[in-house]
Amino acid sequence: MLIVMDHQAPPELVRAVVEKIESLGYRAHPIPGAERTAIGITGNREPLDPAVFEALAGVRAAIPVTRPFKLVSREVRLEGSVVKVGEAVFGEGSFPVIAGPCAVEDREMMIETACRLRAAGAQLLRGGAFKPRTSPYSFQGLGEEGLRILQQAREASGLPVVTEALDVESFPLVEETADMIQIGARNMQNFALLRRAGRARKPVLLKRGISATLEEWLMAAEYVVAEGNHEVVLCERGVRTFADHSRNTLDLSVIPAVKHLSHLPIAVDPSHGTGRRDRVIPLARAALAVGAHGLMVEVHPEPDRARSDGAQSLDLEQFANLMSQLRAMAPVLGYRIGASAP
Ligand code: PEP
Ligand code: MN
Repeated sequence: MLIVMDHQAPPELVRAVVEKIESLGYRAHPIPGAERTAIGITGNREPLDPAVFEALAGVRAAIPVTRPFKLVSREVRLEGSVVKVGEAVFGEGSFPVIAGPCAVEDREMMIETACRLRAAGAQLLRGGAFKPRTSPYSFQGLGEEGLRILQQAREASGLPVVTEALDVESFPLVEETADMIQIGARNMQNFALLRRAGRARKPVLLKRGISATLEEWLMAAEYVVAEGNHEVVLCERGVRTFADHSRNTLDLSVIPAVKHLSHLPIAVDPSHGTGRRDRVIPLARAALAVGAHGLMVEVHPEPDRARSDGAQSLDLEQFANLMSQLRAMAPVLGYRIGASAP
């Protein structure tokens, strides 16, 4: 159930409603909103009686939420959520681009790449320090050293950093360094990790699981938000299908479906979505056209020498080309492409 407070309801009345909800044995989740405060209720097994809450001072309406995901549902928040990371804004018609190598490989490369990405218009820097790899014998990332390099690349370039938290044990280290914490596809249903991300004070980029339905994905986001972290951006990165022309099948049809069901912003990752460099730019253009709120692309200065995911990484020239194409398309589609080329 969602409690919608009156426009002018003062904080004491909001607190009184929260206390009432808690006294009934449920959890109250105040939801920040531009217009008025709303309070989500979870933890009830049976449907609640709206009259109980509508009788309280300052309450405008008590609305049943029909979806299994509650706090991330459009039903509880009509306007889209906006997540800000540095100067990047997910939502509100802008289209921040997250770019960088799959993995952090070495210091000089990372710093140089970050500066060139910023010059081309990227708004966030990516790079995995802890890498989820299919084979235990593949490069697993530089770990803590990788996080330190990311910090230096942020200082040199001014770009905020997105990097993956692989498990609960290393989460605090990643939380300290990252400006946005990535939860990878393979961890989308790692519920302990999702809960930990929900207690973090940093925005979360939640990738779609390799075979996750839309409902499973939104339920994963619900884990994060239910713990109190409202700053979640979803990221479509392709799902496993019978198709063998492509590493994964980038499900662009999920973008309007997510926007219908949820208020969370959604970005698209055409690099993991296709696995092939020559497919990344066409599908990045499609992501803008279909209404996504941002993009993640893998970029490496020498893709053929990358320690992971080289085949799907753009080089710096291709990235600059991608950015100029997006900038050309943006006005037609009513977008702002955040950072402009120098
Ligand atoms: C990545 O972003 O490098 C990554 C491992 O992504 P995913 O979890 O989508 O495979
Ligand atoms: Mn990768």
